[in-house]
Amino acid sequence: MIDLPAHAARAIARLEDAGYETWAVGGCVRDCLRGAQPHDWDLCTAAKPEQMQAVFAGERVLEAGLKHGTLTLLTADGPLEITTFRADGSYSDGRHPDGVRFVPDVTADLARRDFTVGAMAWHPDRGLCDPYRGLDDLQDGVLRAVGDPDARFTEDALRILRAVRFASQLGFAVEEETAAAMRRQVSRLDCIAAERVREELTGTLCGRFVQRALMQYADIVVAVLPELAPMVGCQQQNPHHRFDVWEHSVRAVGQVPAEGALRWAMLLHDSGKPACKTVDEQGVGHFYGHPKVSREIAEQIARRLRFSNEQTDRLLLLVEQHDRPLGDNDKLLRRRLAQIGEARFRDLLAVKKGDAVGQGTHPDNVAQLCETERRLAAVLAQDACLSLRQLAVNGNDMQALGLSGPAVGDMLDALLDAVLDGELDNTHEALLAYARARMEETHDQ
Ligand code: ATP
Ligand code: MG
Repeated sequence: MIDLPAHAARAIARLEDAGYETWAVGGCVRDCLRGAQPHDWDLCTAAKPEQMQAVFAGERVLEAGLKHGTLTLLTADGPLEITTFRADGSYSDGRHPDGVRFVPDVTADLARRDFTVGAMAWHPDRGLCDPYRGLDDLQDGVLRAVGDPDARFTEDALRILRAVRFASQLGFAVEEETAAAMRRQVSRLDCIAAERVREELTGTLCGRFVQRALMQYADIVVAVLPELAPMVGCQQQNPHHRFDVWEHSVRAVGQVPAEGALRWAMLLHDSGKPACKTVDEQGVGHFYGHPKVSREIAEQIARRLRFSNEQTDRLLLLVEQHDRPLGDNDKLLRRRLAQIGEARFRDLLAVKKGDAVGQGTHPDNVAQLCETERRLAAVLAQDACLSLRQLAVNGNDMQALGLSGPAVGDMLDALLDAVLDGELDNTHEALLAYARARMEETHDQ
């Protein structure tokens, strides 16, 4: 039923030849059985850590996880995580098992896993080991906790966010009792490390079924992003918007490519709206100044969840500028390109398209953005000058004209502006002539 890749089959055979029962386990089995390509392969084995070390003596391995029973074998086909059959002790901090206990068989190992679809093991000769009926749940598209759901989420609250992520990635429905327990235990997410929350949320945002997951589990998402709670149910009372702020944002998330920065930007772009909402005499809602407030909220979230500086800068730019014109004419387009560069310009195009489609009212805006994209390609094809570096003159040329100190930089900036505005060709002669004329002008004044 499952075609094991050669490196996994070889490692299983080596451990079994040495007398230790070994299986492929978890996400890789789940993904193969649903016809998807696993992104990594995990094995579980009866071999204790030192026995694994003996079997793979002389191979390239990582031993950082060894005290929890995990040896990572670095093969030419990628890393393989191999873990001794274990049962996790209790989680008194709700985060880390207090101790791991090695157990003799695979069924006991599967009992510690969070969802039935990830609690299956596969062996090339022995076939599927599925004591929790994970295959039935997989075929029904159901995410169900192994054993008592409240106990599982109390042991490790991260599993609540893993469930939301799997719902978003796999499109599965969370079984009723499991979902109820997620909600009962949601406050326990407070003690989960920020980085792990970030990774699960990013995984959720990038899932294929993200819209459904974010609508269904809005309460769980806002439990870890409380700044976003006012978006849920915030009516826009505006002819340009059919949905409340949360639903609009969720729809916009689903419209941009599945890349973390873009999806986070869509989730947060209107987060400042509830705080900026006013209603005029006609009963129409307005949100003046919301991009700036959204940026502040995004910054707070990015710091708390420990986004890298690079990720934060990219996110904040997209959130703050999502409402600014990108360039309705070539002059403006060149200026914006010079300010933010091609990569961010394209990001903003994606964000603005997502926003426009997510509004559900204005197909013209989308058509306009497609036109901007076309003109962007044309401007780039002209190899237009967009930065000081690309100007056909430099500081030395300005000094040769007699300028010195800050006047050099000021003149180069003025030349670039004139080129961006299309007033001036980017040729050495034209630029020098323009500079000389400006110098005479200031001289005459
Ligand atoms: P993916 O790799 O696609 O995110 P996965 O199910 O493989 O999904 P991993 O984090 O790679 O998830 O973990 C591998 C297996 O380990 C899981 O299938 C599950 O059986 C178990 N597991 C991982 N994290 C937990 C956890 N927090 N609680 C219980 N079991 C877990
Ligand atoms: Mg995995």
